[in-house]
Amino acid sequence: MFYVASKHKMLCIKMKCPYCFSLDNKVVDKRETEDTEATRRRRECLKCGKRFTTYERIETVDLFIIKKDGRREKFDRTKIRSGIIKACEKRPISMDIVSSMVDRIEAKLRKLKKTEIKSSFVGEEIIRRLKQLDNVAYIRFASVYREFDDIKSFENELVGLKKREDDEKAKRNRKN
Ligand SMILES: [Zn+2]
Repeated sequence: MFYVASKHKMLCIKMKCPYCFSLDNKVVDKRETEDTEATRRRRECLKCGKRFTTYERIETVDLFIIKKDGRREKFDRTKIRSGIIKACEKRPISMDIVSSMVDRIEAKLRKLKKTEIKSSFVGEEIIRRLKQLDNVAYIRFASVYREFDDIKSFENELVGLKKREDDEKAKRNRKN
């Protein structure tokens, strides 16, 4: 038995054996599928003893992103992912790191328990995380995302970044 949360109601679904249609079975093996949203379970029918596989998916509440111009778009994690991948191009950042960043961002958005979230919130969240990870990826993403409508702060950011790099270089030179 498992639950599907769809918008505001919970549906309760029992897994039927595809051979004898009995509802009595036990889970013999469980693993997450690659897209991580579905759980694959091997089940064994308690009546006929045959085994079968089920894919169970929890439907989460629809989440919408409100764009700068007011347009409403369904939340799509692949967009966040491709934005981050683009920013991280040729940087020493593994796909595992990118994936876990996307997971954390999505989890944070869903935890807000809102159905609508401003795109600026999502953008700043990505920027904040890239900033901790890699300066180049961070600047790339921020410059595209902020569309230079905020050119002064972007320049300040570049100056600050340059200064930090120079400080680090100076520190390294002192050590040598
Ligand atoms: Zn059966």
